[in-house]
Formats: sequence, structure tokens, C-alpha cells
Amino acid sequence: MKSISRRALTLYLLVFVFLAGSFLAYYRLSVNANKWAMNKANRHLYTDGAFTAGDISDRNGKVLATTENGERTYSKDAEIRAATLQTVGDGSGYIASGIQTAFKDELTGYTVKDGVFNLKRYGKGNDISLTLDADICKAAYRAMNGYNGVVGVMNYKTGEIVCIVSTPTYDPLNKPSEEKEGMYLNKFFKGLYTPGSTFKILTLASAVENMPDLENMTFECKGKNGKGQIQIGEGYVYCSGIHRNAMIEKAFNQSCNCAFAALADTLGKEKLTATAEKAGFNTQMNKINGKISCSTSTLKLNDAKALDVGWAGIGQYTTLVNPCHMLTLISSIANGGTAVEPYIVSGIKTPDGKSLYSAGTQNIGEYFSSETAQELKKYMRSNVKNNYGDYRFAGMEMCGKTGTAEISDSEDAKPNALFAGFSSNPDYPFAIIVVVEDSTYSIKTAVPVATKVMAAVKKAYS
Ligand SMILES: [Zn+2]
Repeated sequence: MKSISRRALTLYLLVFVFLAGSFLAYYRLSVNANKWAMNKANRHLYTDGAFTAGDISDRNGKVLATTENGERTYSKDAEIRAATLQTVGDGSGYIASGIQTAFKDELTGYTVKDGVFNLKRYGKGNDISLTLDADICKAAYRAMNGYNGVVGVMNYKTGEIVCIVSTPTYDPLNKPSEEKEGMYLNKFFKGLYTPGSTFKILTLASAVENMPDLENMTFECKGKNGKGQIQIGEGYVYCSGIHRNAMIEKAFNQSCNCAFAALADTLGKEKLTATAEKAGFNTQMNKINGKISCSTSTLKLNDAKALDVGWAGIGQYTTLVNPCHMLTLISSIANGGTAVEPYIVSGIKTPDGKSLYSAGTQNIGEYFSSETAQELKKYMRSNVKNNYGDYRFAGMEMCGKTGTAEISDSEDAKPNALFAGFSSNPDYPFAIIVVVEDSTYSIKTAVPVATKVMAAVKKAYS
């Protein structure tokens, strides 16, 4: 009896060890298989270090990345190469959010189940189609004219991102020897910026929702030396001009800091936070195409004093926005309050044309009620009509808001200039975000960039 049970125990032990071993091997395979199969020592995948990956094309079939004679190569147009680099990604994986890195398995045809089956079968990986328009990206790259920053354009009905340019950038076929800060970063997905006056859209939304008397209110902006000021709590919020007494539409047109600091003070931190959080602040967005994560826009007023809330109401204090989220937010206003999920990859196909993945429009909820969205649209339309000028966006019935964000207390620090807006002409259902870093007033830098990019959008869709 004793010896049998000992034998049984040994057998159990053996079975256990075997199972544990298999489990460990399986676990290691599923975790590391990608790395092992893609190891550069694995020569049949690589020729001269470049993997035989599939093509990446823009929405019109223009090839942005391909493999020729074993070498990874890019668009024939040097400006398109630089304009689309942070989105397409580099061959070495420096640009972590680039398609070539995020979709490496799909491009090489690798699956955990089949290993490199596809690659052996077809001799190359799968092809990826983007929603991007290379010509609009090129126009945006030119419009940035050497400035650092970001431009993003998306179809607010569908969520298709048609333009992303993040600068500084470089030509992947002529990589500079000197590295520039931020050149491996796709600021559209990863950037966080002080929103400045573009945040007044949120303060206005909260006022529209919570202050039934808003349209009858008058806001005071008085001061000296050309600068208005308003006392909030223990200190002052300053304005860029002296706007005297203005009703809400005029105050929004003139971007009066006194008016919006007063609104934030009246609303209080809870209401302002509630409006912002409904519109996606303080929550991580879903990954783009399930693969590329965005930085999270934040409005943190827990420890804010009255004066801090006043500054937050004009987009200063500690508030930060991510360009992709801000574009989603602007799009929701254009779209009657409903936010759609942005996406960049429209489809993935095998070399013989079999669809492996196809993306479509997804609603992600109501960022604003339809009434609030309608009011915001009205006021943003008024800004362009009465202040920035319709001539800048011919035929677009453009709506928008500028921002000039102070990012340092130093006197000679240059601000970031922003523009967020959308075309309300249903023929061109596109929203845009522009950030020009180390700039001057937004009307001189960010708005002209938006003008050029929206002209390219119009050309592409006419
Ligand atoms: Zn003012």
C-alpha cells in the first residue's frame, strides 16, 4: 500500500512538473514570441536589417511606407515624408506611437497562432490603410513653417483623422545627425498643453448649462495701462485689453479674461469640473484603433483657491489638454454634442486582399447636451464672423476659438498660440486643432496655420 501511494505521489508530482513546465513555456511563448520571431538574427524576416513589412498608404492609396529590395522606404515626396513621420513611424521604433511600431505584428504578418505564417506564404506582411490625407498633411507641415507644435484635423461625423503633423520632425531618408527635443514624439497623441483661452469654450459651456440669466449679464473689465483686471478672492486676474462692459457674446469674441474669470468664480469648482469631466477631462481616452494611447487632459481643482479657479476659467492654472482629446471635444460641439471616437487606421488587408481588420464610426457619448452644443456653436461662429474674419475660411462657415497660453511667469517667455475650430458647412465636416509653440498672439500664428490647412481640406474634398 505504502509503495503504491508513494508511486502515485511521484506520478502526480511528475504530472504537476510537466504541466507547470508546459504552462511556463506557453506563457513565455505568448509573451515573448513576437520578440523571438522578430529578432534580427532571424534572417528570413530581415534583409539588411529592414523587415519585409507590408505597405502603409493614405486614404487615397498614396504609399507612405513600403519595402523595396529589402529596405524600408517612404513617400517619394520629401515634405510628405517629414509631414507624416510621427504618424507612420520610423523603422527603428524610436517613435513609439508610430504605426510601424504600434502595428508591427500586422505589418509583418505575425500572429501568435500562426507565427510568421503569412510572411512565409506571401513573402511580405499585411498592408495598412490610413484615414490620413498626405496632401493635407503636407499643407499643414508647410503652414507650420518651422515652428514647433501640432496640427490635427478630423471628420467630426465619422472620427477619421485626416491630418496629423507634429513638429519638430525630420526626413526619415535623411535623418539629421543632431537630435531635436520632441522629434520622436507624436504630440497629437502624446502632447499636453496649457489650453489658454481655448478653455473658455468649457467655461462658457458650464455657464450655458448653469446660468439661465447668462444672456442678460454684463461683465466688467476695467483697469489701467491698457490692462483690465478683476479681483477674485485674494488677488487679481488680468486681461489683455480693457473691454469695459460687455455682454457674453462680445466678451467671448474679445476673449475677455475678466468676464471668464468672473464666470468661473460664480460657477465654482464643482460645476466647472462637472462640465469638463462630462467632456472627457480627467479620463483616459480609449486607445486609437485599440493600439495608440493618448495623454489625458486634466482639470484638477481640488486644492484650488478662488483665485486659482478664476485662472482655470481662462485656461491657465494647472489645466492641461491633449490635442487629440481637444479635437474630439471640438468635433462633439460640431456634431450636436455627440463625440465620435477618432481613428487613424481604416483597414488592414493581406497581400491578396483579404480584410483582416476594418474600422468604422463609433459614438463615445454625449460630451455636451444638444442645446449646449448649439449655443457653443453659435458663439464660436460669432467669433470668426465678428473677430477673426470669414475671409480667412472662405465657404466654410467656420466656428472657432483662439488661445494664447502663458507657460512661464518669466517676462520674455514666449506663449503658445492655439486655435480650435470647425467648419459648420456640411460639405466640409472637419474640425481642426493647431498649437504653435514659442509663438506670439494666436491671431498672428495659429489662425493663419488653420487658414492654410482648412484651404487644403477644402481642395481635397471639393
Ligand atoms: Zn477684458
